[in-house]
Amino acid sequence: MFKGILIEKDEAGYRATIKEIDEAQLPEGDVTVRVSHSTLNYKDGLAITGRGPVVRKFPLVPGIDLVGTVEQSDNPDYQSGDRVVLNGWGVGEGHWGGLAQKARLKGEWLVPLPTQFTPQQAMAIGTAGYTAMLCVLALERHGVTPEQGEILVTGAAGGVGSVAVAVLSKLGYSVVGVSGRPEEFDYVKRLGATEVLERAAFSSQGKPLTRERWAGAVDVVGSHTLANVCASTKYRGVVTACGLAGGMDFPATVAPFILRGVTLVGVDSVMCPRVDRLAAWQRLGTDLDLAKLGLITNEIGLSEAIPMATRLLDGHVRGRVVVDVNA
Ligand code: NDP
Repeated sequence: MFKGILIEKDEAGYRATIKEIDEAQLPEGDVTVRVSHSTLNYKDGLAITGRGPVVRKFPLVPGIDLVGTVEQSDNPDYQSGDRVVLNGWGVGEGHWGGLAQKARLKGEWLVPLPTQFTPQQAMAIGTAGYTAMLCVLALERHGVTPEQGEILVTGAAGGVGSVAVAVLSKLGYSVVGVSGRPEEFDYVKRLGATEVLERAAFSSQGKPLTRERWAGAVDVVGSHTLANVCASTKYRGVVTACGLAGGMDFPATVAPFILRGVTLVGVDSVMCPRVDRLAAWQRLGTDLDLAKLGLITNEIGLSEAIPMATRLLDGHVRGRVVVDVNA
């Protein structure tokens, strides 16, 4: 038996509770992992609370991230005792995830724990941090350099936003954050932002084009915010879109794209090919200041993860939440 969060949906309703789970219930897979830590991402918040249609089968253990030690493997790439990380691949959505003491997974989904990080640090980064790095890599791939001007990061006090600000500032970019929480402006500046703007300046309908300011952007919010970010991006600037914290819609015009040659790049972490994951984790090893990672991270035990999911969706959590599944 092992302990984990189980999401059930039946005539009694949708609920997430901590349960003792029989190992025989673990799903198919060629590698069994003894999980040490998981995390809470926005998507985990949606899964645990049922506020978004994330969970595709019931019952399900949530948790789109995990780190742990291989207990048993039928996969030639992994031996018992190996330390591994998992992010995405539909785990915590359609396959049992990391918010439990054990997981059974496909070996091809795993990456070795990067040697620069402790298990806690790997989860402090988690899907949010690795997605932030994918956004940075996309900006670089499209030719954005620090000399071109300021980079805007929305949702800057959240998980993706915090890591994006920290990485971009370490790389020498001038970073401007957007946040709806004035009490966290100082935190965003400590991560490396030169300025923090009020969320309200971006969150309602704006003009098709406004003053050109951003050489690049990392947007986690979507909706009017993404439209306004595109409208204020400089000629040939690059906007990476990875989130929908403000809404799934995109009420924009084509003006920034056809008149200013702005590039909008979609970023997905879930099905991202292994080679790009390894590249992102390798770059996190060199381009993320671990002292700032400490500032970003809160650690909680498994029993605290369920109430914390609601706080996260309500926008009350700063940075990243690491879950010690054995505490
Ligand atoms: P968090 O909850 O940690 O951060 C989201 C931040 O967005 C909040 O902290 C808040 O920042 C801001 N925010 C929240 N609600 C609103 C709103 N209504 N309008 C404007 N801003 C808002 O989530 P994550 O960082 O884990 O994820 C951010 C987004 O990115 C989510 O939509 C998530 O689903 C998505 N995502 C996508 C991935 C992909 O593969 N494409 C991978 C990972 C995440 P502040 O308080 O500073 O304003």
